[in-house]
Amino acid sequence: EAKDNGRHTFAVFSTTARHLLKQRLELRQDVFSALERRQFVLFYQPQVSAANGAVVGAEALLRWEHPRLGLLAPDLFLPMLEGSPAITAVGAWVCEEACRQAREWELLGYRLRMAVNVSPRQLMDENLPPLLTNIVTHYDLDPECIKLEVTESMLMQDIDKAAAVLRLLQRDGFRIALDDFGTGYSNLSYLRTLPITAIKIDRSFVREIEQDRRCLDIVNGVIAFAKSLKLDVICEGIETELQKEAIRSTGCDVLQGYLIGKPMRAEDFRALLLAQKAEPTQADPGCQPTP
Ligand code: C2E
Ligand code: MG
Ligand code: MG
Ligand code: MG
Repeated sequence: EAKDNGRHTFAVFSTTARHLLKQRLELRQDVFSALERRQFVLFYQPQVSAANGAVVGAEALLRWEHPRLGLLAPDLFLPMLEGSPAITAVGAWVCEEACRQAREWELLGYRLRMAVNVSPRQLMDENLPPLLTNIVTHYDLDPECIKLEVTESMLMQDIDKAAAVLRLLQRDGFRIALDDFGTGYSNLSYLRTLPITAIKIDRSFVREIEQDRRCLDIVNGVIAFAKSLKLDVICEGIETELQKEAIRSTGCDVLQGYLIGKPMRAEDFRALLLAQKAEPTQADPGCQPTP
């Protein structure tokens, strides 16, 4: 052992590394049975209208309630799943659960747009459109209420295949948002040639706004461009009032970020919706609740 050699620095590093490796192996071992053990849960982050603050949508975000390690964010386990066919079943569960929840809130009187992240494998799978259509039919939801979030890097893996699946999704009435916009190559022709209905401006732009005015210029330019293509624009990662006001000044349609609301459990999201109904004049007097 390194410790026995008196090389304490190495010993500490080694212990930490071993611990991390052990944890990673443990996660890898457990992740494939997490679905059948019902350990996955969806959190929901509110998306609000920039015009009046009303909650207009939710992004479903996957969490793993690990029996020993607690609540885990997707960065810790999703890459393991994405490298395997198991992601198909998990992705299908996410779609089903998000739609079930959207229906529940619709019955409560809130017709929200539910954003669902899809993984590269799902996007390359022509079974995704019929799967989603079956689910929305089952829950009696309008496919318009479901927005699939894809990233540019996913599209680039196999643009022809991805484009084919996106067109099927469009044909079936689903909406498609380009997530993390501005972080990739930003091949703008995707926006013109693919059936994308919205872009999500990445939080790296939002974060820089306070330090660097040029970021706001970029966001303004992107929004003008998106509007010319009749795309909806969502800004993610809004953490401060200053960022919120700057982004609102750009004409962005929808805001999302910790300032507006962190990802939360369904029951907390429900409470948020009900609180909104209790104070309908708070956001914008005379404004109708979410259509
Ligand atoms: P994303 O789709 O870009 O989701 C936004 C991420 O930013 C979420 O992290 C969210 O919690 C976080 N976020 C939101 N507002 C703020 C903010 O104001 N500040 C900061 N610092 N962060 C904020 P999360 O939940 O850890 O998810 C990470 C990524 O994992 C997602 O990025 C998405 O790519 C992926 N993911 C999450 N759920 C799913 C899923 O069900 N399926 C698939 N395929 N991917 C998922
Ligand atoms: Mg997303
Ligand atoms: Mg994003
Ligand atoms: Mg992302």
